[in-house]
Amino acid sequence: MSVCRAPPLSVNSKVRTAVKTDIRSLQFPELEEQVRELGLADYRARQIVDWLYKKRAQSFDEMTNLPQEVRARLAERFTFDKIDVARVLGSRDTTRKFLFQLADSNLIESVLIPASPALYGSRSDRRTICVSTQVGCAYGCKFCASGLEGFSRNLRPNEIVDQIIAVERATGEKVDNIVFMGMGEPLANLENVMGAIRIINAPWGLGIGARHITVSTSGLAPQIRQLADEQLQIRLAISLHGATDEVRNQIMPINRRYNLETLLAACEYYASRKKQRLTFEYILIANVNDSPDQARRLGRIARRLGAKVNLIPYNTVEGLPWSRPSREQQEQFVSILREAGVAATLRREKGHDIDAACGQLRLQTKRELQPAAS
Ligand code: SF4
Repeated sequence: MSVCRAPPLSVNSKVRTAVKTDIRSLQFPELEEQVRELGLADYRARQIVDWLYKKRAQSFDEMTNLPQEVRARLAERFTFDKIDVARVLGSRDTTRKFLFQLADSNLIESVLIPASPALYGSRSDRRTICVSTQVGCAYGCKFCASGLEGFSRNLRPNEIVDQIIAVERATGEKVDNIVFMGMGEPLANLENVMGAIRIINAPWGLGIGARHITVSTSGLAPQIRQLADEQLQIRLAISLHGATDEVRNQIMPINRRYNLETLLAACEYYASRKKQRLTFEYILIANVNDSPDQARRLGRIARRLGAKVNLIPYNTVEGLPWSRPSREQQEQFVSILREAGVAATLRREKGHDIDAACGQLRLQTKRELQPAAS
């Protein structure tokens, strides 16, 4: 088992933002301060955020109620990076997967999930978007396509928020539920993720309630405690995928750093500070974590924390040896949990046909592009 190659927290945000900040990475008070520094009237800050998040401008030139000279000064001080849709898979009634190209040509993915029965405590008529937080991932979970090519960089707040804006623009649909479960480990980029969440939640930003925002982690215990101390009542989902250290060690290198006991203690702390119930994500992998014994142990853990369990049958990834359990085994696993009094759902994998598992579309596209590039 490889040692976890986790990067330090927020590797690049300070360095990059010291050079030139993207205007959509700023919180409103920071924008007000910058507007003042530029010698502009205070009301300009309000006009600018309206252009950014209500009218969804894509350049300073579109901000037509600002004098040309003001727009030029903003362009001098800030970047306004766009993310471009490189590819879309899926259709209106199904899960749709978006591959985005960032300003530096890196590729990331977002997934739009249509109405699903109460996935993360939300109502069943909600449209959920699953966003990425890093380019690649350093955590190397053995079942995941995102980790296959390692970690490139953290996403900045604007690049996280822009995934939502770009999906809404491309589909004409309003997203009302956000899950941080795409490519990357959100809590390894906590500062930028929190910056994005504040913009998503703020009335001057996207105005989406904290209860409709779920952050997922593979188990970074110290950052779970940090998140617990944040004021916002966001939801937390733990990618557990194993109910013992033995199983987690086999598929999730992070467990060597923060074992189950350490992780569950951090979860208990989180649960004690927040009103929402925790969710355990559990990808069912044949002959790895799908035994009745794992189900019983998972049931005990979920009961102890008052957590819900989302079971996700494994989505095959080319190049990885794992497979999904039979339908009967899936049903048996969920029955054991329910008999133990745990609220458990077995997700009918909506994106199976379009490689919806985390990181797969990006990987596939990179592989297709490689021969052409060489
Ligand atoms: S499951 Fe999440 S944390 Fe693990 S390698 Fe994939 S993206 Fe990273």
